[in-house]
Amino acid sequence: MRDPKINELKKKAICTDCVGEPYLQEQIKSQGTRWLCHYCGQKGRRSYTLEEMSDLIESAFNSHYTLTPADMDGFEWAMHKDLEIDYDWGATRRTDQLCQHDRS
Ligand SMILES: [Zn+2]
Repeated sequence: MRDPKINELKKKAICTDCVGEPYLQEQIKSQGTRWLCHYCGQKGRRSYTLEEMSDLIESAFNSHYTLTPADMDGFEWAMHKDLEIDYDWGATRRTDQLCQHDRS
């Protein structure tokens, strides 16, 4: 089961300025809504909620990349990006790798 914070997180918005990735910035500029950005506090820039962001990243990954177990999925990325949530994607993966190593 997902963390209960997830639903709260899904509603938070991120603006074009806070998304460093050029492809995602373009998508948000053309299709985003003017929300209050959760990250920089700016109002009026086009933004996506993290839920929309997660869908966008997932579809971008699916069409441009082949996912391997070493890649974040859309939601892991969003959680990784949120500084208020104590989520260390790298640590999760390192643990996975250790477990796999132990089994072999
Ligand atoms: Zn912002």
